[in-house]
Amino acid sequence: MTLLVGKKVASEIENEIREKIELLDTDRRPCLVVFLVGNHAPSLAYVSRKKIACESVGMISEVQTLPESISKEDLISKIREKSQDPKVDGILVQAPLPPHLSFASIVEAIDPKKDVDGFHPLNMGKLMLGLEGGFIPCTPLGIQVLLSRSNIEIEGKHVVIIGRSNIVGRPLAALLSQNRKGCNATVTIAHSKTERLIELTRSADIIVAACGKPRFVTAEMVQEGSVVIDVGISRIGNRLVGDVDFDSVQSKCKAITPVPNGVGPMTVACLLHNTLLSFERSL
Ligand code: NAP
Repeated sequence: MTLLVGKKVASEIENEIREKIELLDTDRRPCLVVFLVGNHAPSLAYVSRKKIACESVGMISEVQTLPESISKEDLISKIREKSQDPKVDGILVQAPLPPHLSFASIVEAIDPKKDVDGFHPLNMGKLMLGLEGGFIPCTPLGIQVLLSRSNIEIEGKHVVIIGRSNIVGRPLAALLSQNRKGCNATVTIAHSKTERLIELTRSADIIVAACGKPRFVTAEMVQEGSVVIDVGISRIGNRLVGDVDFDSVQSKCKAITPVPNGVGPMTVACLLHNTLLSFERSL
C-alpha cells in the first residue's frame, strides 16, 4: 500500500513556485487577496494557512477581514475594487458566507481572470467545455495532480466520486473525464440519493470520498487494489478525520491519502499555482 502524502507533493510544487518567483524579471510579485467575512473558526484557520503558504513562496497575501453584517452591495463593491487593481492577481472569497450572502452571486463579482479558486461561472464553463485559459478549482486540480505525480494511472479507469458539490465533486468529474493526457477517466458521481452505492464503489478503480461524513467509506465498499482519495475533513474531538475509515480500508488499497496531510495541502499548493498562472498571464 502506498500512502499518498499530499503534504510532500505540495511542498515540491511550492518549491517549484518559489524558484519561479525568485527568477522573475520584474519587481512586481504575484498577489492574492482573500475576502474573509465573519469569524467562522475553521475559515480563520484556512485563510491563515493560505496566507502563510503565499508568503513562504514569495507572493504577497492580503486578507480583507469584513464584518458578518456586511451587505451584499458593499461586499461586491470591495471585490470589484480589488478586481480592478492591476497589482492584484488572484481573488478568492472564503466559504462559507453568512446566510444573507449567496456565495454564487458574490463570486460573480470577481474578475474571471483573477478568479484563482475557479468558481466563477465562466471558469466553471471553460472546465466543462474543456477550454484552455480558465482556472480549475483548487481541490479537484490538487487531486488530479496528486494522482499524476504519484504515477497513478487515471486514463481508462473507473472513478467513483462520492459527492456532487460545486467545489469538489462536479468540477472533479468534469476534469477527470476530459479528453486529455492525465485525465480520460470514466467517471460516476454519487450523491445522497444514489441507490446501491456499494455496487458502484466496489466497481471503482479510484474512489474519491467527498461527502463530509466522517469514516463513511468502509472496507466492504472498496475492492482489493483500488486507489482511495479522501477529501473529507471533519473534527471529532480534537482529531481531524476524513470520509474514509482509514484503518479498515488501507489494507485493501493500492494507494490511499491520509487525513490530515493528504488532499488539504494539495488544495493550497494549487491555489498558489493558479495565482502564479494569473500573474504570468498578466505580464
Ligand atoms: P457538501 O457541499 O456538503 O457536499 C457533500 C456531498 O456529499 C453532497 O453532494 C451530498 O449529496 C453527498 N452526500 C452526503 N451524504 C451522502 C451519502 N450518504 N451518500 C452519498 N453521497 C452523500 O461538501 P463539500 O463542500 O463538497 O465537502 C465535502 C468534504 O470535503 C467536507 O468534509 C469538506 O470539509 C471537505 N473538503 C476538503 C477540502 C480539502 O482541501 N481537503 C476542500 C473542500 C472540501 P446531496 O447533493 O444529495 O446532498
